[in-house]
Amino acid sequence: MEKNKIWLSPPHLGGNELQYIQTALDTNGVSQYGSNIDEFEKRLENYFGKDSFVTALSSGTAAIHLALRLLNVEEGDFVICQSFTFVASANPILYQRAIPVFVDSEASTWNMCPNALEDAVKYCLQQGKKPKAIIAVSSYGMPFMVDDILEISRKYEIPVIEDSAGALGSTYKNRPCGTFGDLSVISFNGNKIITTSGGGILISRSKTNKERALSFSTQANENKEYYSYSDIGYNYRMSNISAGIGIGQLDVLEDRVSKRRENHEFYQDILGKDENIHLLEEPSEDFFSNYWLNTVTIGGNNYGMTKEKLKKIFSENNIETRYLWKPMHLQTLYKGYRFFGNNICGMLFEAGLCLPSGTNLSAEDKNRIADVLKNLRK
Ligand SMILES: *Cc1c(COP(=O)(O)O)cnc(C)c1O
Repeated sequence: MEKNKIWLSPPHLGGNELQYIQTALDTNGVSQYGSNIDEFEKRLENYFGKDSFVTALSSGTAAIHLALRLLNVEEGDFVICQSFTFVASANPILYQRAIPVFVDSEASTWNMCPNALEDAVKYCLQQGKKPKAIIAVSSYGMPFMVDDILEISRKYEIPVIEDSAGALGSTYKNRPCGTFGDLSVISFNGNKIITTSGGGILISRSKTNKERALSFSTQANENKEYYSYSDIGYNYRMSNISAGIGIGQLDVLEDRVSKRRENHEFYQDILGKDENIHLLEEPSEDFFSNYWLNTVTIGGNNYGMTKEKLKKIFSENNIETRYLWKPMHLQTLYKGYRFFGNNICGMLFEAGLCLPSGTNLSAEDKNRIADVLKNLRK
């Protein structure tokens, strides 16, 4: 008999979502206004704490786009971006007709390398233009090297957009991801640690920016007695129904983070002493990852296994895995844009795989995964 499919990271509902959706329906609040949106934003502002102002949007991608708008990124401007990421970190740069400058990863977090970042900044300055923003990513839930990146941001006075799309619940030096950027982004897409079905938030450090983001997300209407515009806006606001799912999911966020971390311990137990399959770990006690996805690199001298072979073995057992991000500077879409670094992110792509990390993995699912990994050693 065919065994059930084990997915990489499927949605996992908490149980309370329907109650909040029902409130939306009962109050006819099915549009982009209503009590769920207000409540969702308020709860998140409490979670992030001081100086965090939340605007609920239709996606994480929309949030990154609005971050660029708030920083007045325009045609021909430089925007520095981590190369090792999901395409949505970089695409909004092109929406604005700005010029992406890609930066490599470092080996401890797989996120933005501070040295390569500084090289990229210097390159832009030599071209006579200070970059308008640095997009740093907390990939797979692992915080980037926050202190080092922020130091460069301050030194050159370039704002940071923190793409913590998949890092809700992660912390650096006990401060939550979502509080490090001049503007920060979280995604609630269906595959993230919690979901609103589809959605995202922009976290601003001032109420003014929160209100500007809100205006941009609702067509930049100037709220006169007639429809009135002097700037380009978008239809990016979250719906009140989605926000209801989000509130229900916030109720279980803590549980979801601990489940993901249990998954990580499960992989640690199997792979901890394996020289050929290396599991990404927190580099020090400053880092606390939600381990949204568990990621490995495969290889070592004379080791016959490759990411392709391992993916195939998992797939034959009806288990989904995925290659690591193919870096943006290696994508056809971004051919011709500058890249700074030693191509560590290219090597990660060559050697790496994401393993099933959903919070609804059962004990039996884990046994099946463990069997595959243990059999590799025979
Ligand atoms: C998921 C993700 C996004 C995009 O978020 P959406 O809500 O899917 O638009 C952006 N950046 C990273 C790193 C992501 O993982």
